[in-house]
Amino acid sequence: DPSSNPGTTPATTNEAEFDASRAVIPGGVNSPVRAYGSVGGTPRFYASASGPHVTDVTGRRYVDLVCSWGPALLGHAHPEVVAAVQEAATRGLSFGAPTHGETELAETVLSRLEVDGRRAIERLRLVSTGTEATMTAIRLARGATDRPLIIKFAGHYHGHSDGLLAEAGSGVATQGLPGSAGIPADVAAQTLVLPYNDLDAIDAAFAAHPGRIAAIITEAAGANAGVLRPDPGLNAALAARAHAHGALLILDEVLTGFRVGPAGWWGREAAGLEGGPSGGSTGSTWTPDLVAFGKVIGGGMPLAAIGGRRDVMELLAPLGPVYQAGTLSGNPLAVAAGLATLRLADEAVYRRVDEASAAVSDGVAAAFSELGHPVTISRAGSLFSLAFRDGAVRDYDDAKAQEGWRYRAFFASMLGQGVALPPSVYEAWFLSAAHDEAAVDQILAALPVAARAAVE
Ligand code: PLP
Repeated sequence: DPSSNPGTTPATTNEAEFDASRAVIPGGVNSPVRAYGSVGGTPRFYASASGPHVTDVTGRRYVDLVCSWGPALLGHAHPEVVAAVQEAATRGLSFGAPTHGETELAETVLSRLEVDGRRAIERLRLVSTGTEATMTAIRLARGATDRPLIIKFAGHYHGHSDGLLAEAGSGVATQGLPGSAGIPADVAAQTLVLPYNDLDAIDAAFAAHPGRIAAIITEAAGANAGVLRPDPGLNAALAARAHAHGALLILDEVLTGFRVGPAGWWGREAAGLEGGPSGGSTGSTWTPDLVAFGKVIGGGMPLAAIGGRRDVMELLAPLGPVYQAGTLSGNPLAVAAGLATLRLADEAVYRRVDEASAAVSDGVAAAFSELGHPVTISRAGSLFSLAFRDGAVRDYDDAKAQEGWRYRAFFASMLGQGVALPPSVYEAWFLSAAHDEAAVDQILAALPVAARAAVE
């Protein structure tokens, strides 16, 4: 009886739900891409989710390739994670005081980010969203260096704080223009937007702004303009460039952290899985100064974190002069979900996510090659995305130079066949350890039909 559950109103169609939500919520959604704006059609209103599946208000079930935009590494509503949250809830929803679980989560994250005895971070602070994590990392970098400017890369997303929405062309050291209305030009001008995978642009920016750049912020592997894989050695080179100029490297692992491996993308590089500067296989020895986490760390609950070097992290209040706070920071239910998720996310989980991702991405490639239609699959660990173009996607300009309109028909066909893809061609596809053979087979069976719809 849906009326007994206040989370699911008894409306019978997605259209009725969308009409009702649009009357009270801008665009009917609480985060823009959920509105299906670039793929068309009516967003599905979900009533429940379990394992690899989501179920909409009409009772229709889909294999889910969004996984809540990353967090659902174990699949939806993993029984042990749900039980941990339920147990925590019985002890109180929020205290506004420190708890044992927060320490345990920080210890877990610190020890996970250790490869061959080398730790990437020494201290961790919990917040509620990835946006807060990167915003605080930037404030810390500015506080630590007493410098104003930040370098970010075109096509990288770090949340919606003012300075990080800045977007500009790919010109060297272009001064950021507001990427959103409501951001003063002088705020946007503190962000230098550079092309990704282009060290010459970095050198030019440091030369043009001597002693003024506080930090480079980069996604550990780009996954917000489709997947933009870092060239081998790029992150190590960014760390070296930053340090040579007295700036910090902020590694954004909100999306990659605990998803592409037990120690995130940094862990893959440190373990030699992604090749060193020469493309070789020895582990790389660079360390970021600050790391932002989100998504998987909270197991589907609102939780994120900033980690980093002790000397930088201890600039945070109450020890230092950089202010940051949060009523719900380290919320006990979110911490319980995060702890349970990380406890369960063992090697077998990552192996299954890797296998399922490989099977699906190979299936996408095969479906289009069967039709003789060139597409590019970009991969970074278990993350991958599809671009309707011939040739590698190394930066934002490449990502935009595609026949993205073809995704509309592709998406609609998959949805019609019971597979819910990310509702934008610029998003990575997310799998989980709950994507078993049956779920993968359903995706593989749908792909040839959708590929035909896309190329027509
Ligand atoms: N950083 C990256 C790399 C992200 O992918 C995202 C969200 O998609 C964020 C930061 C922002 O996180 P949140 O949506 O939790 O604010």
